[in-house]
Amino acid sequence: MAQNGKEHQLGDFIKGRLQFIQDYCENNGLNLETSFADIQKEAVRLAGDPERQEYLEKRLFSGSILSSSFLPDWVDKVFLEAMTKVLKGMHAKLYTSTSEESCIPFEAGRFNARRQAETVFKLLYQGKRPEVWMKTTFPVLYLKCYGDDAAKHLKVEETGPGHFRVTTDNRDLEKASPMDCSTVIGYLFGSLEMLGAERPLVTHDICGIKPGSPSGVCVFEVSWK
Ligand SMILES: [Zn+2]
Repeated sequence: MAQNGKEHQLGDFIKGRLQFIQDYCENNGLNLETSFADIQKEAVRLAGDPERQEYLEKRLFSGSILSSSFLPDWVDKVFLEAMTKVLKGMHAKLYTSTSEESCIPFEAGRFNARRQAETVFKLLYQGKRPEVWMKTTFPVLYLKCYGDDAAKHLKVEETGPGHFRVTTDNRDLEKASPMDCSTVIGYLFGSLEMLGAERPLVTHDICGIKPGSPSGVCVFEVSWK
């Protein structure tokens, strides 16, 4: 029996990652074919056991992912890590704690937000003010991506004009990692850009996923002018 763990509606997010790889290679003079082959190899290595390796080869790399596809969390996790390492070199910085300091997972999240705001989730962005989007749309997208259990712990608080605090607790989630948190920073940042927020800033100083973290929860401070 396949040990695939929890699945969420990650299809469109994974499709976005594939497009991000293409976009990143084009803009940074990398060869797409060899980069993608290296990412596949690294993802298979990170997946570890043969069943998961087979899943990656048959499902993820065969091009049969639809926007509506449900995929196991671990697929998102290994793919993100493999992509980060290959695109920036094996010693790349894997994560960030602020939108002022970019890294591959941050850019991947930002790319997906910008892309989804113009395509699949257009109606969830169109004509919305940033504060309305934070209160109404972000929780919907979070639920899609992280599922009911994690969404139960999501808190979105308006702490002042143009200032929100987002608190999450996804410790029970297999894909939770500081890299995944960086995609959240990127997704929030990219969304605010699309919503016309001026000088958006997303910082993530309290991260419950970082090794040795005592708090267990992740706090994202979101602001704009
Ligand atoms: Zn975190």
